[in-house]
Amino acid sequence: MISRIDLRGAALPEGAALRDLLPRAEFDVEAALEQVRPICEDVRHRGTAALIDYARRFDGVEIERVRVPVEALTEALDALDPKVRAALEESIRRARIVHREQRRTDVTTKVVPGGTVTERWVPVERVGLYVPGGRSVYPSSVVMNVVPAQEAGVGSLAVASPPQADFAGLPHPTILAACALLGVDEVYAAGGAQAVAMFAYGTDECAPVALVTGPGNIYVAAAKRLLKGRIGIDSEAGPTEIAVLADRTADPVHVAADLISQAEHDPMAAAVLVTDSEELADRTEKELAPQIEATKHVEDRIVPALSGRQSAIVLVDGLDEGLKVVDAYGAEHLEIQTADAAAVAARVRNAGAIFVGPHAPVSLGDYCAGSNHVLPTGGCACHSSGLSVQSFLRGIHVVDYSREALAEVAHHVVTLAEAEDLPAHGAAIKARFDWTVPQSK
Ligand code: NAD
Repeated sequence: MISRIDLRGAALPEGAALRDLLPRAEFDVEAALEQVRPICEDVRHRGTAALIDYARRFDGVEIERVRVPVEALTEALDALDPKVRAALEESIRRARIVHREQRRTDVTTKVVPGGTVTERWVPVERVGLYVPGGRSVYPSSVVMNVVPAQEAGVGSLAVASPPQADFAGLPHPTILAACALLGVDEVYAAGGAQAVAMFAYGTDECAPVALVTGPGNIYVAAAKRLLKGRIGIDSEAGPTEIAVLADRTADPVHVAADLISQAEHDPMAAAVLVTDSEELADRTEKELAPQIEATKHVEDRIVPALSGRQSAIVLVDGLDEGLKVVDAYGAEHLEIQTADAAAVAARVRNAGAIFVGPHAPVSLGDYCAGSNHVLPTGGCACHSSGLSVQSFLRGIHVVDYSREALAEVAHHVVTLAEAEDLPAHGAAIKARFDWTVPQSK
């Protein structure tokens, strides 16, 4: 079912040439841009009426308003299964422990006597948090979006998630309950590109936001890319990926289970095993069939995900080559299942999150590790980070110089302004002095 790529026996190419040999989803956000552009424009011009039309077209549900009444949130929390409530509370508790530690303190640097630069961290004022709800519903993504935003000190936050036909056009009740648990009362029944456009442009029900975060499918990712600039975005967190770097010490039962667990998200999900052990590759492949037979979402998600060109077992000569491969791939989730896993993990340069050793499967990180599960996909981990408190903060440089401190450096500023042929810049300095003074320095 899963293909093999054999990179043994020859030196691995570098950079893009190596990336081209590796499996990757045909996740063409650029093509989806053309599909979502008219949707976003429509929401911009027709607001709520357009959102109601797209709920009918894409979610198969008739709704009259997009804003979820506050009573629906409390009712969902009251009706929540106590076991699910306890699990969500533990997930929130652990996420808070981790994200609280991420808060930055302002740093003031004394550059010269009388001259300081302070980096002041200020939360974004209003944010829109997207929680997916197409194939699966993700109350865990409520936790992963809301906790860092709250810990950053964001004053105004709104959640959007697709309307569900089975629940009278409201988002899934577990999502509503998670919002209520976290004290979020502004929730919208909107999905896909139209939800991102609602946040970006605002409607009669929803004030525009400055930043949109959260994972989603190709349409959500495309809308974020399209509207970036008008709004800030986190990374493009699209269809999920797992890479497992494993040697012969790994347990094939665990490796197979972890590959399948990501494949069950989406037919576009990617599952990649990188190993120097042909025996582990064979035993893992053998393990896949019985484990798949015993689970759900087989034909619609797991089989197409594992047999798609985005998934493969990649054979390499040794651990050094394996590390080169996983760095070139830049997985959203990277598991290290090797001897001395912590030391191997410390050598990884590109990954959204790293899961170390046999007892840290990705499922733990999806829900209850305390880490964030909104992570960059599609190779974006080579340049972007997962969601954190930092995603919701802006660092503002505050420049404070005395007359004496400015005088000391004035001649350099004037020289650089002249070198850039911007004499008015120099004049703005000179105007503050009897120019013979700094020039004589
Ligand atoms: P979703 O909420 O992202 O998308 C559902 C919406 O897509 C619908 O409401 C609809 O409006 C829109 N849509 C559907 N078909 C469309 C079409 N033809 N044209 C335009 N819009 C259309 O839910 P989903 O589809 O289940 O996807 C969730 C994704 O989120 C999965 O790929 C999953 O792997 C990913 N995910 C990623 C992370 C991460 O951190 N990277 C975390 C959790 C989930």
